[in-house]
Amino acid sequence: MTARRHTHTLTFLGTGASCGVPSFYCGCKACEEAQVDPRAARDCSGILIAGKQNTLIDAAPELRRQLVREGISRIDQALFTHGHFDHLGGIPQLEFYVRVKTKSPLPIYTGEQTIATIKQQYSFMLDTLDIHLIRAFETICLDGVSYTALPAAHCKDSYGFLIEVGQGDETAAPSPCPSQSSRTAGQKGQKGDGSFLSCIKENIIQDKNEPSPFCPSFCPSRTAYFPDTGPLPPETLEYLQDLDNLIIDSTFSGKNWMPATHHSIDEAIALAELLKPRRTLLTHLAMHFDEPITLKELEHKLLSCESVIQVAYDGLSFEL
Ligand SMILES: [Zn+2]
Ligand SMILES: [Zn+2]
Ligand SMILES: [Zn+2]
Repeated sequence: MTARRHTHTLTFLGTGASCGVPSFYCGCKACEEAQVDPRAARDCSGILIAGKQNTLIDAAPELRRQLVREGISRIDQALFTHGHFDHLGGIPQLEFYVRVKTKSPLPIYTGEQTIATIKQQYSFMLDTLDIHLIRAFETICLDGVSYTALPAAHCKDSYGFLIEVGQGDETAAPSPCPSQSSRTAGQKGQKGDGSFLSCIKENIIQDKNEPSPFCPSFCPSRTAYFPDTGPLPPETLEYLQDLDNLIIDSTFSGKNWMPATHHSIDEAIALAELLKPRRTLLTHLAMHFDEPITLKELEHKLLSCESVIQVAYDGLSFEL
């Protein structure tokens, strides 16, 4: 029997909403806790997928500090969920990385509206970016990982990403996963059939450095990353069955001030109970509004849930 071999890790660079925790103007109990417990302090949200290459999803305004904290000295490509400042504001910090260090435009992948925002807001650095459009439901393969762009309920052309990583013995002959048929149900409007399998076969957007992505098994681990979203569209939910990890917007504590475009913590829990992933991680946490909650209180609350639900924190890392 072959032991599972993990090839990639996911690291939370930030897990906060745009206000951050603590906020400079706020003395609520969540902010007080964050002043003394580093695990309760939150930058704006973003993650890094590390394998043979480093792939960034979103560039928070605190990007430089986040990368220094995690000891990351190289970014090979970036994907963007949407163009709001808390997810895109760190992009200028990559300008001199390209001009001085790599001297080669950084490949980035995102939706049409986000590309328009980048072109408008960051015109001074367009020569340092190699911009690629991903349409909804398209899958791209980078460093042996497939990323499927799924519509979020947030702003125009906003996405979450389904992140699938092969696991297994590098030398084993590829064989379809028994549950592959159920895992690839419901794909519409994709190149190929958009599945992990077809992504590997067709290299829909070819990895420039590695013609054959390292995906030895076709039974991938499945992680969904939705940092900003209201109630997910049905066509997106179809893709989120049989997840290993659901990483989900949990912006509000108590009343949801923006129910069409964000989740409250209770709504995120309800989604976890509906989809039943192996694990749910709460992210994009404001913690202040409108009933401030401390990390300690939230972790205690989650103990009573039927599903495994954890609070993500800045610097949390796990194998995919
Ligand atoms: Zn506060
Ligand atoms: Zn947003
Ligand atoms: Zn956000």
